[in-house]
Amino acid sequence: MKFALIGHPVSHSLSPAIHHAAYRELGLSHEYTLIDAPTQAEVDRVVAALRSGELAGANVTIPWKRQAFAVADRRSALAERLEVANVLAPLSGQIVAHNTDALALEVEFRRLLPASTPRAVVLGSGGAAPAVVAACFSAGIAEVWVTARRFDSKTPENDWPGARDLHRLGARLSRWPGTGGAEKIHFDELCRGAGLIVQCTSAGMQGADSGEPLAALVPWPLLAPDALAYDLIYAPLETPFLRVAREAGRRTEHGLSMLVGQAALAIEIWLGQRPATQPLLVAALDALAKRGRA
Ligand code: NAP
Repeated sequence: MKFALIGHPVSHSLSPAIHHAAYRELGLSHEYTLIDAPTQAEVDRVVAALRSGELAGANVTIPWKRQAFAVADRRSALAERLEVANVLAPLSGQIVAHNTDALALEVEFRRLLPASTPRAVVLGSGGAAPAVVAACFSAGIAEVWVTARRFDSKTPENDWPGARDLHRLGARLSRWPGTGGAEKIHFDELCRGAGLIVQCTSAGMQGADSGEPLAALVPWPLLAPDALAYDLIYAPLETPFLRVAREAGRRTEHGLSMLVGQAALAIEIWLGQRPATQPLLVAALDALAKRGRA
């Protein structure tokens, strides 16, 4: 059977290493390839291949997750809630869209957090933020706040990037604390006693902005003593956000477990079997190390 990841760019993806490790674990000899899709024409071709049976399943990444949701005939409840999908699965002649990004994060939060975590603070309002918010609520967190650098006082809250989706999911939005003053005081109060802080900006990722200023914004001593700092980034494995969290005595987790988790859940959707995640994590770490990016 053939599977593929479609997105742009995709050449540095760890997904082939992760999926091939899963096939080995399951004793299967399936293929997993990368399809670079700078235009929608490639997405349309993948959809046709799924309909014809040439492809048995597809993962979808930036910038096509919203399009994947739109082209599907049916959607899982979670994909419906988020209006984006990262997995397409053929089923009885139809294409079903799923969101295993949010599901994988929910699994992560349930694994790593105590049963009752009253508040989460999320940094960033890009494509990944809605999945983070949905996962927080699904994992039982009562209150979720999001802040992002373009949440400024000059722009009405409803016009902040991502505001519509984040509000719809139940998140509350707060101005970016980077300017200091009242914004920073409010942010510090949100962080006081919070059990989870999630970094979902690209700051700190290799090749992106430095993560140091963002790490310095967080009032680490105010977080709950057993708070978890979760960074969606996995290259490098320890971002400035995670380093400073660790130095402040807080628990930390990088985004590789989420990446592996969403792959394992996609495989379960396509094949009806969920591989153990540990060998997949080892394969992902190995692929990262080979690239000298770990
Ligand atoms: P995105 O749509 O490009 O959004 C990036 C966000 O980062 C935006 O809110 C952007 O703000 C903000 N940002 C960038 N530089 C910043 C800085 N210096 N200070 C403050 N904010 C900054 O990306 P995404 O899809 O949400 O992904 C976010 C990160 O999560 C990426 O590093 C991605 O690789 C990672 N990720 C990991 C997984 C996983 O499986 N582990 C899954 C998805 C994403 P503006 O809007 O102002 O530009």
